[in-house]
Amino acid sequence: RGKSAGRGVVSVFASAMAKHAVLQLELERELRQALLLNEFRLVYQPQIRLADNRLIGYEALIRWNQAQRGEVSPVDFIPFAEQTGIIASIGDWALDEAIRQLESWAQAGLAVVPIAVNVSALQLANLGFADSVIARIKRLPVFLQCLIQLELTESTLMQAPSIQSIRQLTQADIAVHMDDFGTGYSNLAMLSRMSLSKLKFDRSLIQNIPDNHAHQQVCRALLDLAHALQLEVVAEGVETQAEALWLAEQGVQYAQGYWFSRPLEKELAARYMDGVTE
Ligand code: C2E
Ligand code: MG
Ligand code: MG
Ligand code: MG
Repeated sequence: RGKSAGRGVVSVFASAMAKHAVLQLELERELRQALLLNEFRLVYQPQIRLADNRLIGYEALIRWNQAQRGEVSPVDFIPFAEQTGIIASIGDWALDEAIRQLESWAQAGLAVVPIAVNVSALQLANLGFADSVIARIKRLPVFLQCLIQLELTESTLMQAPSIQSIRQLTQADIAVHMDDFGTGYSNLAMLSRMSLSKLKFDRSLIQNIPDNHAHQQVCRALLDLAHALQLEVVAEGVETQAEALWLAEQGVQYAQGYWFSRPLEKELAARYMDGVTE
């Protein structure tokens, strides 16, 4: 009895696994398809200078509108794209799209601001990655070349093969920012040798910070670290005025979050840029 019940459990489990595998294959096929069918787009979230609430740049965030599923969050498909290796093509698409957008805004006479593009660990570990990024950026008119920046997450940054890519990029004057800072395991010695431009303090640290004494202490310590390393700081996920005020008081220069703006579709981003910077 016990045995047959056990087998039942196993077979249910096996069929769930098979289902899972089928879903994974399906998703992989859909992601390849998405590139061909142009189902990805970028939205642009404003980054704000806390001293005067002015726009200093955009973070480009990918969106996927899939025919059957509708909008699929990058939280759900980026990790999967990384597992399967499709992230390389998706990442290439995102960088090219950001470059095209910047050029098109500049051609339209807008007062363009920098666009930060998210880069995955797997792209960075790829040997040809830095050369390919540099080549694509150096094709831009000189005044736009410094306006494409890269965001890397902390975990990805610290792996040995990636360090060389980062060096190559920063030596070519491409700004590299560390994303989600405070959530990973930074090698601080390495951090000091990497010529990054900005640290982005993760939302988990920022949330409710005016009421969270422990987070306040951590935030102040990380700010001291940033100053020691001469890195600028962007607070991510600022959702309330109280958070923004607390951060400004501590000397955090920049912020990003729903309090200021949600990520914007490109048309709105163009209008916002025009309105705020002119
Ligand atoms: P991330 O790079 O840390 O981006 C910040 C995420 O926080 C975005 O989620 C943004 O919409 C969200 N966010 C911004 N302000 C607030 C706020 O005030 N409150 C809350 N609750 N959330 C806020 P999104 O767009 O869903 O992206 C999630 C993650 O997916 C990104 O985290 C990034 O790691 C990844 N991702 C997005 N686009 C790309 C891409 O083009 N390439 C790669 N490799 N990863 C990407
Ligand atoms: Mg980011
Ligand atoms: Mg982040
Ligand atoms: Mg994140």
